[in-house]
Parts: sequence; structure tokens; C-alpha cells
Amino acid sequence: MNLVTRWLPMLLAVVLLAACSNDESAAPSGDDVEPAAPAGSDAAPAEDGSTAPTSPERLVVYTSRQPHLVEPLFDDFTEETGIAIDYISDSEAALIERLAAEGDRTPASVLITVDAGNLWQAAERGLLQPIDSDVLDERIPAELRDPDDQWFGLSIRARTLVYHPDRVDPADLSTYQALTAPEWAGRLCLRTSRKVYNQSLVAMMIERLGEERTEQIVAGWLENLATEPFSSDTRLIEAVAAGQCDVGLVNTYYLGRLQKDDPDYPVELFWANQDTSGVHVNISGAGLTTHAPEPAAGRQLIEWMTGLDAQQFIAASNMEYPVVDDVPLDPTVAAWGEFEADSINLRVAGQRQAEAVRLMDRAGWR
Ligand code: FE
Repeated sequence: MNLVTRWLPMLLAVVLLAACSNDESAAPSGDDVEPAAPAGSDAAPAEDGSTAPTSPERLVVYTSRQPHLVEPLFDDFTEETGIAIDYISDSEAALIERLAAEGDRTPASVLITVDAGNLWQAAERGLLQPIDSDVLDERIPAELRDPDDQWFGLSIRARTLVYHPDRVDPADLSTYQALTAPEWAGRLCLRTSRKVYNQSLVAMMIERLGEERTEQIVAGWLENLATEPFSSDTRLIEAVAAGQCDVGLVNTYYLGRLQKDDPDYPVELFWANQDTSGVHVNISGAGLTTHAPEPAAGRQLIEWMTGLDAQQFIAASNMEYPVVDDVPLDPTVAAWGEFEADSINLRVAGQRQAEAVRLMDRAGWR
């Protein structure tokens, strides 16, 4: 009786009970987990003994990504390798707590989630183990993976400026910090500081600009707010479209979804800091769990996800960017043009997360 077989009934129960804790759950296109995801692939366990003895029947993955962003990938992986995947879909915080509580009894070999801040947390709590892989080192740019090889970026998400084209001349836009200028008074919209996306952005700013300067910038943004911070990037973009604010700061895929539904959607994207530090980027990514029951298959899955076909799906399915070069982009994403990204290693987003949270708190960013 292997571990996974013993755990399977419990896994299914957990998935059915999984509650959504994400603030964008109401939106069907929300980035993160939705409630009561169906468990696993449809692939039947190889009970006829035909599976090669070294190949595991099943791999268990914990993921905060929505089922539609991972299930087609898992199905392809199963088809190519014969390794079926069961997954639990929940918020990243719940999954990290779960891994910690399970310890060496965890059925999960792989954790897939968004934001380096979250992956760093998992690594910091001892829940991930390094993968020594030439494939991952070659395919994933160094700044998008952990220097200690505990997590690896699988897609890039850019956090930049959006504006209303009738009320803002893009020639007046330049950098994140320039939105502190008096001309933007009462015109800026931000999302809540409780979202890890903003925590990571501020953490990277502290690294680049120092704490004092970053605090001035954050205070300057808050001075210019048109309204209270929003609970989601989508609501923020909708507020720009509706004229409640003129400019805002969001992850690009949220705009992509709205533009896909309505090509004339009245909000445009602007690539910030192109003459200086580059656009703030983050990742969705994966790591091998410390107590992975199937470490070889887990590593195989993560490496497989950097292949061209997988990369194209991962990037296009949520209108993000691939981590690997020469992967075709979704047409809406391609239309935004190329951009220079910040090249500081994303581990900083985790290392300075607590500092960033304290800074935003002091500044009064709710
Ligand atoms: Fe998101």
C-alpha cells in the first residue's frame, strides 16, 4: 500500500471542501484558486502492473492556480509520460500551511503557485528542496529562479501602469515613482497593500531605491489617490474605464482579459521605467517539496513545464509571458509590445517582504 493510495480518499475529501479564500473569487476569470476544484486527472491508475517499475503511477501536486490553467497541462504530461497527476487546488496560504502540517507525511511532491513572495515563504519554512537541474538552469533566466534552486519561475507576470486614453497622454507617463507628482493628485488608483503583488513590488523598490526613498514614493502615491485602494486589479481597471481614476498599477493579464472580451476597452497599458530599472515582473512558479514522495517525477514535471508547448500554454492561458525565449505570445499580449524588465533576482521579493509590509503600513496604505 503506497502513500498516495492511502491518502487518496482524504485528498478527494479535501478538494471537495476546499474553500476559496481569494479576494477575486467572485470573478470567473480570477487569477487564483476557485472553490471546490475537481481533483486530479481522469487517467486511471495502472493497476494491471504494466507500468515500468521505476515509473510512479501518480504524482500529487498542490497548486493555487485555477484548474483551467493547470489541468490541460497535467493531462498532456500524463499522456507523454504515463504519470497521472492528482492535484489539490487552494489558496497559496492554505497550501503552505497544509504542507507544513503534513511534514514528512505529505502526499504532495510539487507546489505550484504565483508570486516569488509566496514561493520564498514556502522555501523559508523548509517546505521545498533544491533541484539540481541543467535543464532548469539553462531555460529559466537566473533572476526568475531561486539562487538556491528551491523554486523556479514558469511564467512572467508584469505589473505596470494602465491609463484612460481620453484623460491621459501617455507622453506624460514614465515611471512608477513619477506618479507621486502633483499633476496626478486625485487621479491615481491602487490595489490594497494586503495583496502580495504590491508587497513584492515595494520589496523590489526597497532593494533598488532604499527604504527611505521607497517610503517617500509610497506616501506620494497615497497622497494622489482618487479613492480607497481596491480589492482586486480587475476592479481597479474597471474604475479607470469608468472615469473614477485616470491611472493605476496592475498586472497586465487582468487588462488582457478585459481587452479580449472587448477590443475597444477604454484602458491602455504603459510600460513603466523603460529608461531606468525596467518594469516590475513577478512569476508563477514551482518547487519540489522537501518530503516529496516522488521526487524524480516531481522534477520531471517541473522540467517538462519549461518545454516549448507547455510554455506556450502556460503563458497564453492566463495572458502572461513565458520564461523561455521564442515562445509565441497570445495576440492580445503581443500587441502590448516588448518591454525591459527589472533584472533583480526575485528572491528579494521574499527577503524584503516583511520590510515592505511594515513600510506600507507606516505610510497608511490599506
Ligand atoms: Fe493575479
